[in-house]
Amino acid sequence: MRVPSTEKRKTVFTEAMEVFHAAADLIGLDPRVRLELEEPDYEHIFYVTATLNDRLAPIAPAEAARYEKLTPSKIGAAGLVPLYDGKFILRPDALRGADIHIENGVIKLEGKGLYRIEEGQSQRFKAYRVQHNQARGPYKGGTRYHQDVSLDLFKVLAAEMTWKTAIANVPFGGGKGGIKIDPRQYSTDELEAITLRYMYKLKQLIGPDVDIPAPDVGTNGTVMAWMFRQYSDGERERHTMRGIVTGKDVRIGGSEGRVKATGQGLAYCVEEWFKDKQLPIKGARMIVQGFGNVGSAAAEILDSMGAKIVAVNDADGTIYNPDGIDIPALIAYTQDKSNLKRSVAGFPGAQAISKADFWEVDCEVVLPCALGGEITAEVAQRIKAKLVAEGANGPTTPAGDEILAARGIELIPDIIANAGGVTVSYYEWIQNKRMEHWTEAEVNARLEFAIKSNYRIIQDIALNRPRRTPEFDSRPFVIGRELPTRTAAMVLALKRIEAHYLIEGFSQ
Ligand code: NAD
Repeated sequence: MRVPSTEKRKTVFTEAMEVFHAAADLIGLDPRVRLELEEPDYEHIFYVTATLNDRLAPIAPAEAARYEKLTPSKIGAAGLVPLYDGKFILRPDALRGADIHIENGVIKLEGKGLYRIEEGQSQRFKAYRVQHNQARGPYKGGTRYHQDVSLDLFKVLAAEMTWKTAIANVPFGGGKGGIKIDPRQYSTDELEAITLRYMYKLKQLIGPDVDIPAPDVGTNGTVMAWMFRQYSDGERERHTMRGIVTGKDVRIGGSEGRVKATGQGLAYCVEEWFKDKQLPIKGARMIVQGFGNVGSAAAEILDSMGAKIVAVNDADGTIYNPDGIDIPALIAYTQDKSNLKRSVAGFPGAQAISKADFWEVDCEVVLPCALGGEITAEVAQRIKAKLVAEGANGPTTPAGDEILAARGIELIPDIIANAGGVTVSYYEWIQNKRMEHWTEAEVNARLEFAIKSNYRIIQDIALNRPRRTPEFDSRPFVIGRELPTRTAAMVLALKRIEAHYLIEGFSQ
């Protein structure tokens, strides 16, 4: 019989919790509070099913000769949804009025070539919602649609939200969820059906005062609108339920400034860092990984502050221009309908380089805004910047952290650097509750104050500098010695969360 190992298995979750334990030890976190925070309150795993449309897949060149004489079919552009892998999704309603010729399941599309019709199948997807902690308020956190998700990953991301909402000082706890799916392989109609089914099952677990999802990787305001509709469908008081999701379109109760809020918060942190160092942000060279919601907004705002974005890497390519990339033109390029991958690859105003070369680009700031675990020890060794500001969640591994620290490269950790999104989500939630609509200037003024004052408290904890100013009071959080910035941020989070348990006590 195999003897079970006594050694604790290392996972992305246990690895991510190392900084929690380090900070908990440092402040002597109450043992029962530690147990409460060490694991999520609830881990929901469930499945959603959907019936997919037919696909048209290009046929192998060897087969093509057999169908040379096939009469071409005429299907309107609206009936064919192009996918990035060369396939098309066939919308059945488009067949009405179309002129179709099929032989052995093969169709010739006018001007496109030969395709085999793959019958639409029913498919099952694994879905998650992890509710980590609600000591400070309702669970709050994004919805991720990505092929590489797992329970362990959602546990990490949900716990991160608990720390982040405490640091941003918004009255929420932490949650995260999503579906194991590559959304780029599905049509909008299919994603709508899958999202509706996801919310159909999620509805009994969440609520505007219980757990509030938002967008994350692979989701956006459109997905939030579907989620809102499904949650409130047929309810008499559905207008009171807009706060069930944040990150909505501004025309249906979203907040001004929410789309760019995470990038905006990141830019405020970077601005503060430059101010501390008495260095000009104008002309500072920066590289950005990930050009989605967070990366593109951060690049646009920092570019408008005078920084020079010299390289961008995304899932499909890397571009480099030592004179600075034209960011508004790059945004227009990635949003062009013909750019199916929405990638920076092929952008005419820059040259293509490899991902390995990207990390070695000479610059002052690295902005990781893609996925987790990208800055490994090996990557950290090659980075030439003075600062890494984490727009993504968990982009630096613990081994990467050690190397950055040893090389004197400074860090603004994710739980403050990307807290702008959840902060404006809170403003959206309040506006929904009060049926108000704030201006973008009002939202950004509040965001700037919130991010910068909490950033200052974290710097004070890191530098062991207790202070009370008109804007903030870092005295209750400083622990009497200097700390790495990531640990300092965690100290702030844990002290704010612990206060709730110690003052309110535990419900029995
Ligand atoms: P997004 O889906 O809009 O964009 C993700 C980007 O990352 C894309 O450009 C994609 O090409 C790139 N990418 C994916 N895999 C990559 C790889 N292996 N190498 C290089 N690039 C890769 O997602 P987003 O909303 O911008 O989120 C990005 C990160 O920021 C995530 O870690 C997310 O959890 C975090 N975050 C997002 C928000 C928010 O408000 N959207 C808030 C806080 C944190």
